Amino acid sequence: MPASSVRDQHPRPMPFADLVLTHISWLVTCDGQMRCIPSGAVAVDGGAIVGVGTTEQILSLFRGRETLALPGFMVLPGLVNTHTHAAMSCFRGLGDDLPLDRWLHEIIFPAEASLVREEMVYWGSLLASVEMLKNGITTFCDGYFFEEAAARAALDAGSRAVLGQGILDFPSPDRPDPRTGRQRAEAFLKAFPDGSDRLYPSLFCHSLYTCAPETLQWVKALCRENDILFQMHLSETAGEVGQLLGTYRERPVFTLERLALLDEGTLLAHCVWVNPEETALLAANGAGVSHNVESNMKLASGVAPISRMHESGVRVGLGTDGCASNNDLDIFSEMDKAAKLHKVMEKDPQTCPAPRILQMATRDGASVIGLGNRIGSLEVGMRADFVAIDLDQPHLTPLYDPISHIVYAVKGSDVRHVWVDGRNVVWNGEMQTVDEKRAMAEVRRLAAHVRTQGDLHMSRMKSLSL
Ligand SMILES: [Zn+2]
Repeated sequence: MPASSVRDQHPRPMPFADLVLTHISWLVTCDGQMRCIPSGAVAVDGGAIVGVGTTEQILSLFRGRETLALPGFMVLPGLVNTHTHAAMSCFRGLGDDLPLDRWLHEIIFPAEASLVREEMVYWGSLLASVEMLKNGITTFCDGYFFEEAAARAALDAGSRAVLGQGILDFPSPDRPDPRTGRQRAEAFLKAFPDGSDRLYPSLFCHSLYTCAPETLQWVKALCRENDILFQMHLSETAGEVGQLLGTYRERPVFTLERLALLDEGTLLAHCVWVNPEETALLAANGAGVSHNVESNMKLASGVAPISRMHESGVRVGLGTDGCASNNDLDIFSEMDKAAKLHKVMEKDPQTCPAPRILQMATRDGASVIGLGNRIGSLEVGMRADFVAIDLDQPHLTPLYDPISHIVYAVKGSDVRHVWVDGRNVVWNGEMQTVDEKRAMAEVRRLAAHVRTQGDLHMSRMKSLSL
């Protein structure tokens, strides 16, 4: 008897999946076609997505060890925050309403020099991870000091994260002698925790104005050797670009090109002041850009030419930057601001349409941080990172177009359930992994030191002016 007849008589048992979500009002896949599936379903096994389709299709293919019906919910890929300094949640609201150079040199650098310790990085990063997960951000790309502590925080919270150890040619909280940069970077990479494929190491050079060309080059070489992401800030303000033009006699992207720092493994945060020639160079070399619209607005840094970048083929994701310059970590809010600000700047309501903006917050964001083959869309084979939005609310009623809602109407506070790698980390708005009240209490305790230090700093300034 042919094998096919045997199968017909004894149909293969339906495969089990760890988790099957069904009857989702709208499943927003963010796949290549940006498909939205009504009455959608998704099956997850071993932390990966094994089925995506309608409820009818998925229930005919899989039996769930756990099955959950989500009528009245929209499910979309976990959002990707492509640029932040998670521990800076400890400095939330410190030094508002100042330009970048004064904010950095008068407030942030002195506070970091005297206060940032491993303990602060752990608790600040844990609080930030909690805030991000509850706002639907399942992956963040970080750059700071004592980055081992940020890695522990992301692991404890259940986030996915790219963790960039900060390198600059000045004394820093975890490296009083800047000449030891290479040892610090190598030690960080060697000790990076394995056993979780949710964490990825990276190296983060602060900028062209705080790192010498030789520093940038050895860091990039180390990144290439280890096949990890190289991150840096670039062309955030006009003043910075003017200063660098004076030093290097060329625009910053040309300096990076000359130093052979540009390729698909390089992520540049901001790129507000890049001209058309620089944009073309970024596209030609494949470097990714993180667009931090709220931080750029708050510090009045300017407006990055995102439409031009898109037209040139530059990959662009969205980022919050550290919440000291934002002052929260919410990519829904970034999507809304980015979509609207660029329309105003271009005087064109068709600029940055909602689907393009959602791509930046999901699949394009995943691409620029080097995780494009793992996250950013709900497709078979991708890791199971997704969030469920409660649609039964006045500001989300009625619903004609789910992608329009995500960009223009949904708030981070509308996120009810979150899964990372198939694990439920937020349920009904409550953290399932760590004690968020403890994280808040620890950061309040640390903030008392920040406050004291701030008072000391102010009195020192006053005595100097007297
Ligand atoms: Zn930054």
